Amino acid sequence: MAAAHGGQIDTVMHEERRFAPPAEFAQQARIKSLDEYQALWDQAAADPPKFWADLAKEELHWFQPFNEALVWKEPFAQWFVGGKTNVSYNCLDRNLAAGLGDRTAILWEGEPGDTRKLTYAELHQEVCKFANVLKQLGIQTGDRVSIYMPMVPELAIAMLACARIGAIHSVIFAGFSAEAIAERNRDAAAKLQITADFGWRRGKALALKDTVDEALAKSPTVEKCIVFQRGTGKASGTGSGANVPQAKMQPGRDFWWHELMKEASAECPATPLDSETPLYILYTSGSTGKPKGIKHTTAGYNLYVKKTFQWVFDHREDDIFWCTADIGWVTGHSYVVYGPLSAGATVLMYEGAPNYPDEARFWQLIEKYKVTIFYTAPTAIRAFIKWGDQHVKKHDLSSLRLLGTVGEGINPEAWMWYHRTVGQERCPIVDTWWQTETGGIMMSPLPGAIATKPGSCTKPLPGIIPAIVDPDGEPVGTHQGGWLIMTHPWPGMLRGIWGDDGRFKEVYWTRVPGKYLAGDNARCDDDGYYWIMGRIDDVLNVSGHRLSTIEIESALVSHPDVAEAAAVGRPDDLKGEAVAVFVTLKRGVPNDAMREELKKHVRHEIGALAQPDDIRFTNALPKTRSGKIMRRLLRDIAAGKETSGDTTTLEDFTVLAKLRHNEE
Ligand code: ATP
Ligand code: MG
Repeated sequence: MAAAHGGQIDTVMHEERRFAPPAEFAQQARIKSLDEYQALWDQAAADPPKFWADLAKEELHWFQPFNEALVWKEPFAQWFVGGKTNVSYNCLDRNLAAGLGDRTAILWEGEPGDTRKLTYAELHQEVCKFANVLKQLGIQTGDRVSIYMPMVPELAIAMLACARIGAIHSVIFAGFSAEAIAERNRDAAAKLQITADFGWRRGKALALKDTVDEALAKSPTVEKCIVFQRGTGKASGTGSGANVPQAKMQPGRDFWWHELMKEASAECPATPLDSETPLYILYTSGSTGKPKGIKHTTAGYNLYVKKTFQWVFDHREDDIFWCTADIGWVTGHSYVVYGPLSAGATVLMYEGAPNYPDEARFWQLIEKYKVTIFYTAPTAIRAFIKWGDQHVKKHDLSSLRLLGTVGEGINPEAWMWYHRTVGQERCPIVDTWWQTETGGIMMSPLPGAIATKPGSCTKPLPGIIPAIVDPDGEPVGTHQGGWLIMTHPWPGMLRGIWGDDGRFKEVYWTRVPGKYLAGDNARCDDDGYYWIMGRIDDVLNVSGHRLSTIEIESALVSHPDVAEAAAVGRPDDLKGEAVAVFVTLKRGVPNDAMREELKKHVRHEIGALAQPDDIRFTNALPKTRSGKIMRRLLRDIAAGKETSGDTTTLEDFTVLAKLRHNEE
């Protein structure tokens, strides 16, 4: 990295708005004040292993107690060494023992409108049966199981069944291509594939099993395949099933889920597993390059997702929690399945698209299920804004008490829209910063304790000790941007990249020796609030000033006509780099007058230095399948180069082609 200002990043953004936790919310919250938060954080920071060990004893079931909280052989951490527990036990049996058997665990709605409901007792029974199915097919502790399924309860059941017997799941988002599945199956050397005949997305039945058949032809380690029958989901008479894809079953290799389940016993005690038994492998979004197979293990991950779920979402018994992430992403692993279920929560799971049958679907679901906590991504929020307030206003959202966001930085104006239009100025917003690698949320407001500022993920959670440093590893000053690192291990941290210790060390532990390098830039303000400034590799270097992507983008998004923006550097002889931006308008005409208007707006908001040199209008930006803007591809386009690097996680290839051919 070039080291202008010792590698620090200039900030040009001025955000002064601040929202205190509503008094009524704070009174009832788990953590009720800034002082209470600070006391807990201080206590944790004084001795993190002890802090986590005390929690682990309380929050998890131990078949055998652990004798050491942390063994840290940099960069390899082992948490709760010597102990035996089981994630499936903690999510299910432990709740049954606490008398929660009749509580709803999963409320489910399919895209066509079909619904299901599973209590903790019912979920337990299904998981036990399916765990027996896995055993019957020869799956043992340590075997890898690849899962490619739509958002149906059976996806969670399959994961929990793997966890119950210590098999390692690798969930692959059900929008990926056969090639992407095969690559992941080979990397993990998966033994079993689980899929469904199809899943619904935007009114179309996607033939998942056909894609899997193609993938399995190139997945030599996969021996067997279990196929869940989705069912049309349509009321009888409206869809006969004639026009949904029929799975082609290969005798000896493929088995129907329902047929195997018919025979399976519902008796399956959870296997006591060593704390560090791998729980899953999950491939990252691929925003910055080739996806990494992140490895998470049993006890530490379980504790971390449970506690962070309780702290950040301030979970109460009567909450209906809805995290809209697909389970194919870490957000779905940690906050649709493992976090909420280990806390005995009721989760809503929805199969389909937010704009099917129309753009009001999410708001209709919130009203119907009386959702109290809603957790979604900035990419979705930007789409809601573009679609218009009328969809939100059609529905009664008075059940909501808390909102959350994750996945990218949220532009302050998008935050304000979320606050006003969805939260009706009543609900705190938790902007949660974390990564596949961190297992769970690392920095976020605790909604009853920490005042929010639009665009800031505020403060680290108890037990999390971040710092911001320059490329020499030296702390930078307040307001200066630098590399975000973690200075102490935490229980939810990744334990490695599957099969690639070299890459694990190089990516996270080398640039600042011995510290976890997150790969994001951040700055701290006078109140000790963190502001994420974008990826380390996306910094713009303009006339000797290093600028963050998100600040320029946020300035653009604060213009009333702009829906979405991405800023990248383009090589420039005079300035080093010129500022190139890609803009999606929500209204107005994409012409030169608008270009001038936007340049003027950015100059006014954050100064002449950050004023865009090139503005390109586009109907869509290239995104990962998890909805993150892929700036590295835009950088190539801005420079007039062929796009290079891994594009397997790109959501829509036509977007790239259009940008390359300058279509608007
Ligand atoms: P890859 O590592 O393969 O490039 P990725 O980083 O997009 O993919 P994820 O683990 O899904 O994969 O995403 C984590 C990243 O998302 C963070 O490093 C950060 O850049 C961004 N992010 C997540 N939440 C927030 C947030 N609240 N504010 C700002 N950025 C966020
Ligand atoms: Mg990453």
